[in-house]
Order: sequence, then structure tokens, then C-alpha cells
Amino acid sequence: MSAVKTYPVTEQQAENALLTRAQYLELYEQSLHDPETFWSTQAKALVDWFTPWDKLHSGDFATGDVKWFEGAKLNVSHNCLDRHLETIPDQAAIIWEGDEPDQTRIITYRELHEEVSRVANALKGLGVRRGNRVCIYLPMIPEAAIAMLACTRIGAVHSIVFAGFSADALRKRIVDFESSIVITADQCNRGGQPIRLKDIADEACQDLDVVRKMIVVKHTNADIQWIGTRDVWYHEMCKGVNPDCPPEEMDAEDPLFIIYTSGSLGTPKGAVHTTGGYLLWAALTHKYAFDHHEGDIIWCTANIGWITGHTYFLYGPLANGGTTLMYEGFPTYPNENRVWDIIDKHDVTTFYTAPTTLRSLLAYGDESIEAHHLSSLRLLGSVGEQINPDVWEWFYHVVGNDRCPIIDTWWQTGTGGIMICPLAGVTDLKPGSSALPLFGVEPALLDDDGQEMHGEGEGHLVIKRSWPGQVRAVFGDQKRFVDTYFSKFPGNYSTGDRARRDADGYYWVIGRQDDIIQRAGRKYTSSDIENTLLIHPQVAEAAVVGYPANCNEQHVYAFVTLMNESSPSDELRDVLIGLVASVEGRDCAPEQLQWARQLPKTRSGKILRSILQQIAANEVDNLGDISMLFDPRAVKDLVIHRLNQ
Ligand code: AMP
Repeated sequence: MSAVKTYPVTEQQAENALLTRAQYLELYEQSLHDPETFWSTQAKALVDWFTPWDKLHSGDFATGDVKWFEGAKLNVSHNCLDRHLETIPDQAAIIWEGDEPDQTRIITYRELHEEVSRVANALKGLGVRRGNRVCIYLPMIPEAAIAMLACTRIGAVHSIVFAGFSADALRKRIVDFESSIVITADQCNRGGQPIRLKDIADEACQDLDVVRKMIVVKHTNADIQWIGTRDVWYHEMCKGVNPDCPPEEMDAEDPLFIIYTSGSLGTPKGAVHTTGGYLLWAALTHKYAFDHHEGDIIWCTANIGWITGHTYFLYGPLANGGTTLMYEGFPTYPNENRVWDIIDKHDVTTFYTAPTTLRSLLAYGDESIEAHHLSSLRLLGSVGEQINPDVWEWFYHVVGNDRCPIIDTWWQTGTGGIMICPLAGVTDLKPGSSALPLFGVEPALLDDDGQEMHGEGEGHLVIKRSWPGQVRAVFGDQKRFVDTYFSKFPGNYSTGDRARRDADGYYWVIGRQDDIIQRAGRKYTSSDIENTLLIHPQVAEAAVVGYPANCNEQHVYAFVTLMNESSPSDELRDVLIGLVASVEGRDCAPEQLQWARQLPKTRSGKILRSILQQIAANEVDNLGDISMLFDPRAVKDLVIHRLNQ
């Protein structure tokens, strides 16, 4: 690993921050050593409870059967809406920006409350009751947020399926989730391209008796097929419906939603999150990780189909009375200015995105950014994978103008919210590190035998104690739940990630356990080699995997995407291989380097290394179901090139 730079907290950042470093340390200590006081105080401050809890927490990781706030009653939509009506009824709750730049909608708390209540009553009218499951297959339009909140208002459990997933993927989820209601739209546009959602939903639901009603939002007015006995227009369903819908008093441990993990090409795994613990975790992590201040406008670019969209587009910001921006489209549509245009147009203060989006924007150069002032920005966030240090530097200097701290947040679907991240104005920043744990989070590194490592080191990242936002079950599959999270290192929540800890206690999450390359008796991480390749100014993206050589050894195979204006050449290939040899050592210089027009990514933007491993090993006959990829053509191109090598 190359030398680490540190960016100390600036005076200005410290002055603006919610907490001082001493307060963070004190609160963190309290969260571990006096959890009763810590969690009671936070829960009372951040969440409105109809009935307080009898027992704060019970259970452990031996069985994974944990509970928080037993006996308490609350409602999520009440917390996100009703309780703000007295103080900020006319503040924008959601700012919506459509696919085309002239489409904007602003929805205040008062309006959102009314619409959510109306839809909640309309759902009741269709027979939806507490505990029933509702599948939402909607694009990034306000009706998606409204439908989610309406479900929570009446105690129905929602499951969002990313709009654009194939009919097969949608069907698998509806079947697993046994959802009798599907909410979709006629069509949506992403990057100017229509996606015929209703057609896909029709195909998914063909001969599925479980689906009683399909509610359809008229979004683009596209022509669609209509099944009169099943289909209902959203706007007609709401017509004349009473907007007064008292929120259902839910138990803290009642399921709130089920979310299918991203990126899996096998049977989808539905992570179950519950009402009280999740809401508190969403509110607490949103408040502290994003240093939430009154008047902030957060733009979390994640789709609502992913947990990041649930927690930091919707539930966290609204629980804290913030304004959240929702964008329907694509970061570079109609051109590379779009992201910067949106930030300036709506005075976004908090921009939270993924390294994959940043790399795609960086590839266009700095000109379009320099044509924008971006002066409203106060904080930048990153999630989804390790942010490559050179991308971090660009984000900090060029986008944030050396002013905005970068909050690199490590977490996963099973954690419900952010677990490890620096805090604005509190934590010195190191590019590529998620820094320190949030309150109540006790991470540890274990060696291959499951022994805890202390001090500096690299190992399996686990979490030693329960926190309120943790996943409670895999829907309908207790064995899979225990196998996924609690079997590998008994007594711990297993993250499946490898991480390093440095002398300052900072965590550097380096990726999934499977991304380790064994070579010359040593373990190399893909991300180190990728980061080195990214140092070269002509490299836009890189993915590195191992492929089998002799005697349990692996060779290194690199896939490289070049900047828009660069072209591949043998000379450049030699330069890049030489660069890795000189920075990381000769042992991990790639044996093969293949040019890639694009890398295969999941819909949430994660590079799918398992497919790249198969391509590198030349095992391309059965690559599994690739329809879940963002663009399956990426794989086909790579296979053709591989076979022609
Ligand atoms: P998912 O459960 O699909 O949300 O994926 C979570 C996984 O993404 C984590 O287990 C990590 O492997 C990766 N990840 C998320 N955020 C970060 C981050 N800030 N740094 C490194 N890896 C990350």
C-alpha cells in the first residue's frame, strides 16, 4: 500500500460540526460501557414512541435472535411526517427532479402527510391490513416514497424491487415475499430511455394467483395492457379518499420492510428489518454521519431499490425533519453537467454517492465542474465499495473545493445503516479509510482461526455486539439467516468483508473475503492493485481478480477501462503492468491485462468480480443469470475479447 495522506479537520469544519471530538469520544464510550443510558437517551431524543419499552434489548449472536425496545409502540410514518407538522409544515420534504431537466416537483411535509394518509386509506380500501406484504416496483418518483410511507402508516410490510429488474427477478421476489399487491407505473424513463414497467410487471405476474391487485401510477402516459379484474390506477384509487388516516400503533419488533440483497445471482435473500430499532438507527446515523443541520438538503443518489435509498434517501432524513432530493434519471443524462446542475439548482448541502458514479463523472474531466459553483455543498459522502484514494482526492479537491469533509461510510444491507465512518469536524480523514466506528458499534478483526487480533492488522471484519438497526431474519429461511451472519465466527455478526486496522485504529475495508488473491505465499487484495492502476491518468476504472495457476497459486488478471479520450495500445498495457510492479511489487504485476469498454456491474453499481474471475479463468460456458446486471452486454463484450486472445 502506498504512503497514506491525512487531512486533519479544519477549523471551519470543527466550528460547524454537531459534535466536538471530546463529545464523540465520550458518547462512544457511553454507548459501549453504559448502553442502557446511551440508547434510552438517543431513543427518546430521536424517535416519538406511543408507548415506551419494557426492555431495551435482549438476545445475542449465539442464535441471532435479538430484540430491541420490546413492548414499545410507534409508527414510522408518524415519525417521518406527523410530528413535523407543527414545526415545519411548509418545508420541502421531497424535492423531485425528473429524468428531463425541466421536470421538478416540490412536496412539503404537509402535502406529503396528506398524500401518504390518502394512499394508506386507499390501500386499506383494497383490503391491505397490518402485517400484509406489498411489493413496490416503482422508479425514483415521489409515488414510490409515498407508497413506502403509506405501508408503514397501516403496518403493511413493503418490499421494493429495483425498477428495471427483469420480469424473472421480479417474479422470484413476489413469490418469495408472497405479496398480494404490486404497485408499479406505466413506464419510466432513465437517461432518455423508456423502461416499460407495466409490461415487465405483467410478465412477472402471469399466472401468479397470489397477486390480487396491481396498482399502476400513470407516469409517462404510455399505452399499456390492462387487466380489468386486477389492475387499478393509482390516481383513481385515491380519488375522493379521506386524507385522515390515524397511524397504526406498531410493536417495535414488527417487521417494517424486507429488502433483497443486491448483487446476488442466486436465490434472492430477503433481509427483514424491524420498526423501532431500524428507525432509531436510520435517524441516529443520518444525524451524526451527515452532521445534519436544520435546512440541510441531502441528495443520496442511491435508488430506493437498495438499502441505501431506504435509509438515507427516505427514512433517516425525514425522521430528522430534513429535505431529501430524489432524482429519477442517470448521472450523465442529458450530459455530463447534470449532477452539478442539480446540486446548484437545488442548493444541495449533502451529496452522498458511490465511487462507481464518481469514477464515471471523473472520466469527463474537470471542465464541467469548474463551470458550476457548487457553493451550497457542505459534506460529501461515499458508499458501496472502497473509494480509491485518487478518486477521493478528486472528490475532495475538485468537487468539494477543499472545504467539504468526505464521509466514507462502511455498512451493508444487514446492518440497516452506517456502521463505520469519519464524522465531520471530528475525525481526521484518510483517503480510502472509513475511519472509526459509530456509536454502539464494536467491530473486531479475526484471524482465519477466529481469534481476535489486537492493534494493527488485517483480518475478517466482524461486529461483536448487537445494535438496534441490525437485520432480524432472512425472510422465511432461519437457517440461511444464521449461516449468513452468525455461523462462521460464532458469537459475532460476520460481515464477510476483510479489513485492515492501522495504528490510529482506523478501519480500511478492502472488500469481500473472495477478493483476495493468493500468490507467492502471500495474500494480495484486488483493491490495492486496482488503486495503483487508477493512478495512471488514462485509467478510468480497473477490476483485478485472481485466476488459477499451479500449486494453489493464482495469477493476476486486470480488466481496465480507459478515460473517454484514451485508446488502448500494447505500449500502454506495458506501462500499466510496469506501474503495478513498481508500486506494489513484481509479484502482483498482472500476467494479463484486458481492455474493457465497461465493467460488469450490479444495478447498485458494484463490480461483479465472480463473473470476472470466471472470464479470467476462461470458464465462460456457464456464467449464470446475467440479466440482473446493469448492462449484460458488458459481459458479452468481455467474453468475446477473452476468447479472441
Ligand atoms: P450490500 O449488502 O449489497 O449493501 O453490500 C455491502 C458491501 O459493500 C459491504 O459488505 C462491503 O463489501 C461493500 N462496501 C460498502 N460500503 C463500503 C465502503 N465504504 N468501503 C468499502 N466497502 C464497502
